[in-house]
Amino acid sequence: SVSHSAPRQSLGPRMVKEALYTYVRPETTADPELLCVSKRALRDLGLAEEEAKSDEFKEVVAGNKIITWDESNPDQGVYPWSQCYGGYQFGQWAGQLGDGRAISLFETTSSSTGVRYEVQLKGAGRTPYSRFADGRAVLRSSIREFVVSEYLNALGIPTTRALALTLCKGSKVRRETLEPGAIVTRFAQSWVRFGTFDLPRMRGDRTLLRKLADYTAENIYGGWDKLPSKLPFGDVKDTHYRSKTGVSKERIEGEGVDEENRYVRLYRAIIRNNARTVAAWQAYGFMNGVLNTDNTSILGLSIDFGPFAFLDAFDPMYTPNHDDHMLRYSYRNQPTIIWWNLVRLGEALGELLGAGSTVDDDIFVTQGVQKDAEDAVVARAESIISRCGDEYRAVFLAEYTRLMTARLGLRTHKASDFEDLFSEFLDVLEKYELDFHHGFRRLSAFTLADLETEQSRRDAAGRFFRSGDAPRQEDESRERIAKWLENWSWRVVEDWGDDKDAERQAAMRAVNPNFVPRSWILDELIKRVEKQGEREILDKVMDMALSPFEESWGWDEAEEERFCGDVPKHRGLLQCSCSS
Ligand code: AMP
Ligand code: MG
Ligand code: MG
Repeated sequence: SVSHSAPRQSLGPRMVKEALYTYVRPETTADPELLCVSKRALRDLGLAEEEAKSDEFKEVVAGNKIITWDESNPDQGVYPWSQCYGGYQFGQWAGQLGDGRAISLFETTSSSTGVRYEVQLKGAGRTPYSRFADGRAVLRSSIREFVVSEYLNALGIPTTRALALTLCKGSKVRRETLEPGAIVTRFAQSWVRFGTFDLPRMRGDRTLLRKLADYTAENIYGGWDKLPSKLPFGDVKDTHYRSKTGVSKERIEGEGVDEENRYVRLYRAIIRNNARTVAAWQAYGFMNGVLNTDNTSILGLSIDFGPFAFLDAFDPMYTPNHDDHMLRYSYRNQPTIIWWNLVRLGEALGELLGAGSTVDDDIFVTQGVQKDAEDAVVARAESIISRCGDEYRAVFLAEYTRLMTARLGLRTHKASDFEDLFSEFLDVLEKYELDFHHGFRRLSAFTLADLETEQSRRDAAGRFFRSGDAPRQEDESRERIAKWLENWSWRVVEDWGDDKDAERQAAMRAVNPNFVPRSWILDELIKRVEKQGEREILDKVMDMALSPFEESWGWDEAEEERFCGDVPKHRGLLQCSCSS
């Protein structure tokens, strides 16, 4: 640099062209304190618990030591980097964004799982993509991201992971007030987002876009041969799906089959993964809170946890994001929004999708084409994206059905279950403001004998309400729930016979968590760590988060019960601001 006179903060955002990452070194952290390490993450990375106790580990996760690069031999090894991407935020194109406070350290292949992960630090200082912000993360949002990453993984929901949580004792971060800063060490099979594709698309950089698509297929998805095969889509042919959506047989088996090139298969793989993940969010009552395209993963991982939340009382209109006045990122809108994001991705891939077999000629990248040929490509891309929408809905529905069937303790799915069991269950939860998670968990506890008579079913219905609360509209609500329980018990007998209570209960407990890291619990955890200086509570909550299906965890029965019990008055369905 020629002059050092301009302070670094006064520089505007730096535009990075024709590249998707920049080498950047984490800032040094004075006085780091390693607050917590995820045992599950250690195991999945192939690390022994002892290794996390070393000084080296502590320095690496504080950004103070780079283990893959050495100053004395600068041309060798791996230097840390941050990714460049753009994104649509709340539906508007937002330009170049990038990893403003995430720095990847290295890639590693786990000796225990054989999976390759990219390990990165979030909150370790400014990058070329920090724009006007500080590259830091506050402790409260870091605690939230650390816990939820590992919790979603424990539920079996695809997600980025968290290895370590470091408190930066030597520095404070300014938000509305001065707050302690922290670093989350996170890892994922890939950090590439839809926004990574949006940026070269908006800049008209076709060469880069194609390279990125090839990289995604070959590197992230493990090769072109791993992608789904030819149209028509298997799931969409399903008659139950067609009867629910009105998609015609002709549309599915008709046009376009031979137009599918390898980029269409890549797009479909991305669609399928995202459909399955959002189905799991819906089945488990999870909301990301900011599903912008820069927060939507190319692998369908849950990613970038800001104002996320789990449901408490079932309210499909609930959004955890305080600034989301349009309810764009509300519970019930998530499947629609992920599809909206997938359409933006389809547009980015447009000429590759629509090129048919001529995609092999590179013609669309290097030379441009005649106007009418271009129109034909666009028309074909549009028709492919639209038909992929059928596949998205079909995969979503199949996965949602699979998960809800399991959560309700059934072994098979009947078409009538959708109305009689799924919808009616959720309608009842919504109408009487009952807790979403307790609904499933408490259902798991019933034996058939508990539901044998009209009176016993009415008693059982009372268990869905908050303890100590008189059931709202006593007669009507109990009767309606009792009716549902009767239908459900018939289906249980149909699927299991009448003497398999124990097996069914065990199967249900294994898919219906007892512990959910709700907003009020995370708030309490943050307060106790940040304001009261508690440390052990983090390990305890992490124990619960890593084994959420257990009945107890063996540290403090009263506290465990409190965390698994009713949401305290006025602490349900909290909202969070984006400031983090
Ligand atoms: P998010 O809404 O958290 O997904 O962030 C959107 C963009 O803002 C991403 O490019 C982030 O890296 C960036 N960003 C958010 N907070 C900060 C911060 N404190 N410092 C630098 N960049 C940030
Ligand atoms: Mg983000
Ligand atoms: Mg964020």
